[in-house]
Amino acid sequence: TPRVFSGIQPSGGLTLGNYLGAIRRFVDMQESGIQTLYCMVDLHAITVWQDPDALRRQTRELAAGYIAAGIDPAKSILFNQSQVPEHAQLAWIFNTVARMGWMQRMTQWKDKAGKNAQNASLGLFAYPALMAADILLYHATHVPVGEDQKQHVELTRDIAAKFNHDYGVDFFPMTEPVIEGAATRVMSLRDGSKKMSKSDPSDMSRINMTDDADAIANKIRKARTDADALPGEPDGLAERPEARNLVNIYAALSDSDVASVLRDVGGRQFSEFKPMLADLAVAKLSPISTEMARLMQAPDEIDAIIGAGAQEARKIATPILEKTYDIVGMIRS
Ligand code: ATP
Ligand code: MG
Repeated sequence: TPRVFSGIQPSGGLTLGNYLGAIRRFVDMQESGIQTLYCMVDLHAITVWQDPDALRRQTRELAAGYIAAGIDPAKSILFNQSQVPEHAQLAWIFNTVARMGWMQRMTQWKDKAGKNAQNASLGLFAYPALMAADILLYHATHVPVGEDQKQHVELTRDIAAKFNHDYGVDFFPMTEPVIEGAATRVMSLRDGSKKMSKSDPSDMSRINMTDDADAIANKIRKARTDADALPGEPDGLAERPEARNLVNIYAALSDSDVASVLRDVGGRQFSEFKPMLADLAVAKLSPISTEMARLMQAPDEIDAIIGAGAQEARKIATPILEKTYDIVGMIRS
């Protein structure tokens, strides 16, 4: 049976990249009637330093973001990773299945560890094994993610395959990444070669879901671009990553595609296009940020929703973890 799992780190505020590349598509999958589980992955977030109070606030804000964007706790299981301890338990098993060399090849590890990898946390290195546990703990068949997480879902398949092979079982499924839509990789507003990230030190690099209209307009106005007018067709964006990014964002926000956007705006200067993009972004994001702010007034209600979600998630997770322990040869008495 198909089952969808995905997660977002409470490592900062939600960005437009998270919305277009992840949450908006999570909602579509929820509405398709498949069983869906969506998670605030706090155990992942602490692989880089998080202030405890900030982590609590960001976790609740992420839950509010999911709900405000259309994740319905009556239709999807919405929960916090650390409240389902089976994630950490299965991750340990996968730490013994995954190979050092596999982890070393991960581009997220290379990007986040940077030049001083000796000083990165062991958890940051093991991040993909925990992610494999998140997914396989529910025997999830499909994982909607942005382009940057494709490599980790492929590694999840490698872990599942090696576990099945080593123990001579056919237990964990081969999970499919689902990477589709106009905005699977939204780029930084400051650097067209870097993806937009909630943990980027520059707030000007991203649009946060909680930014107000002035902040959004200001960030788009200051977004880096070249000086040429927009081209009439997609080929004209080939060597223009910043221009391509803004047009992509416009296309995704207007449920359109790059070719039809360019048919409308080709020939215009950025001085004209940027305010159009800002108006569109404000129109699409402000209902969500208003609802997020309303939900954040009642943190107890958020906690109750995710607490109930964790109970639901554990109903699926517990038997799968128990079976895994049994396969590995651990006494269950
Ligand atoms: P961090 O900087 O802490 O890694 P992040 O913004 O990359 O934060 P994650 O929690 O790592 O967010 O990722 C959550 C989901 O959002 C993943 O599915 C990821 O692929 C997707 N995503 C993240 N950034 C982008 C982006 N710029 N464009 C499209 N999808 C994105
Ligand atoms: Mg990330």
